[in-house]
Amino acid sequence: MLLFPLRCLWPTTLVEPAAVAPTDPSNDSAVELPAAAPRPKPSLFSRVWFVVPRTVFALMHVATLGVLFFIPQTWGEAATYAGLFFGLYLLRGFGITAGYHRYFAHRSYQTGRVFQFCLAWFGAMAVQRGPIWWAGHHRTHHKHSDQEGDPHSPILDTIWYSHVGWIISDNLKDADAEIMRDWKKYPELWWLDRFDWVPGVLTAVFCYAVAGWGGFFWGFLLSTVVLYHATFCVNSVCHLVGKRRFETSDRSRNNWLVALYTLGEGWHNNHHHYPSAARQGFKWYEFDLSYCILKTLSWVGVVWNLRQPTPRALQSKLIRK
Ligand SMILES: [Zn+2]
Ligand SMILES: [Zn+2]
Repeated sequence: MLLFPLRCLWPTTLVEPAAVAPTDPSNDSAVELPAAAPRPKPSLFSRVWFVVPRTVFALMHVATLGVLFFIPQTWGEAATYAGLFFGLYLLRGFGITAGYHRYFAHRSYQTGRVFQFCLAWFGAMAVQRGPIWWAGHHRTHHKHSDQEGDPHSPILDTIWYSHVGWIISDNLKDADAEIMRDWKKYPELWWLDRFDWVPGVLTAVFCYAVAGWGGFFWGFLLSTVVLYHATFCVNSVCHLVGKRRFETSDRSRNNWLVALYTLGEGWHNNHHHYPSAARQGFKWYEFDLSYCILKTLSWVGVVWNLRQPTPRALQSKLIRK
């Protein structure tokens, strides 16, 4: 799943891959092939726009240490910082899990156009780029999970690469618009995807307006970076550590700890087994906060048609111990 503040600061590939003529090094007498086209030199502009977002991304991590300069001195200050941190973590986490993931990538329930835009906005507040970009890459993950073409597999690549490396590598590409064509009829979503930095900047301004620089560092910066790595753990940890209930074609696993801090996303083996379900915790004891919120919203008619795993699916491909 993921990301960076300013989309304009987060370019696609630095250069297109050069066309390389196939050669057979084991055969010196092979017919000489035409020379490969010269690799186009990246412009100064593209170099700058490659370096800047990654530098800002790194600096955001370092800057979280700024909270040390804003240790709350009163109970009121502590409550404000904690409220901003946890409130924005939960709201934006819900935007990512229930919005970007379960709605835009998997269409696991239905809602109206206004709440649909709210979900996209909440997700974009997390500075993990726009709904089309995020959900498009996630669909690609399901299409090629732990196989060639998976953008972030800890099985094919290193844990580091699957966790964060893929985001800062020059392999990062725009999402395949074709894979998200079912959302084309909603121009507001594509607008938000284009200007995905707007909700993040407004969130930062909001935190500053509420509690000054302390609000900015605790409520925006630290909360954003913690939510980054919570989200990343689903891609890295949940394909390596945990239990497998279903025999899926990938290495996805259920991890209760990740599920706890990702609002239910850690039940990742369940999810790969039945991706279109609105819930990812399949047993009563598999806590899935995003689904609890969605269920509550369905009682008041904000969302509806929450898709469930079929009884047959729950019994199929079980791994018997
Ligand atoms: Zn996965
Ligand atoms: Zn998914």
